[in-house]
Amino acid sequence: METIDFSGIKVDNVTLTEAAEIVRHFIIEGKPRVVVTPNPEMIVAAQTDAEFKKLINSADLRVADGISMVVVSQILGRPLKERVSGIDLMLKLLEIGADYNYRVFLLGGAPGVAEEAAKKIKDRFPGLVIAGTQNGYFNAGDETGIVKKIKEADPDLLFVGLGAGRQEKWLNQHLYELGATVGMTIGGSLDVLSGRKQRAPKWVQALYIEWLYRLLTEPQRWKRQLALPKFLWLMFKPSV
Ligand code: UDP
Repeated sequence: METIDFSGIKVDNVTLTEAAEIVRHFIIEGKPRVVVTPNPEMIVAAQTDAEFKKLINSADLRVADGISMVVVSQILGRPLKERVSGIDLMLKLLEIGADYNYRVFLLGGAPGVAEEAAKKIKDRFPGLVIAGTQNGYFNAGDETGIVKKIKEADPDLLFVGLGAGRQEKWLNQHLYELGATVGMTIGGSLDVLSGRKQRAPKWVQALYIEWLYRLLTEPQRWKRQLALPKFLWLMFKPSV
């Protein structure tokens, strides 16, 4: 599998269909695996967080969750095949999983979000088994109980949406005790799947202005949006 380097962060050059097929094989093999979805904000954060950087690079599958990464890769002459957003890969895996009766565990989001997402997912993909849910606002003292709960649920797929940085660290710390086959980080996808947040419409995505949509719909995120120019600077700054 070809990897593309974004300022020290390695990303696998795969399409959505290829990524889903790789995860399906991970599940067949049955060993613990980690799937992460680096985006420009994570690439910027990883420059000053060595542990985060190492976790992304050591994951078993790393997909490019940002259209700007595709554009930059084209300009730099090593083009990514396409953007593979976390939520699209998650949906594809749920779709495939419905045919194979995968067991799915949803971890993350405010209280109630994972349950609401689970209900919507089950309505849409009846073949899936929702093995369990857990909100993402817990203390260190709750960790043992949560790990036990996930282990007993015995999921094929564990989706972890605890916010970038924390979710990768949590998954890496616990994957081997979880008994889950594949752990995938998903950021705020459960907010969207529960219906609490709207994803940018397709035409907005097609115009590459999802960042503008998020800025207008969630203005409190403006500081996080500065990651995009920082990412572009990282990728194009003149080397001295
Ligand atoms: N989150 C959580 N526990 C926390 C902090 C955040 O479960 O302690 C959840 C939050 O509710 C939201 C998601 O993590 O669902 C946000 O992740 P991120 O900001 O990485 O996602 P993005 O919005 O960039 O997709």
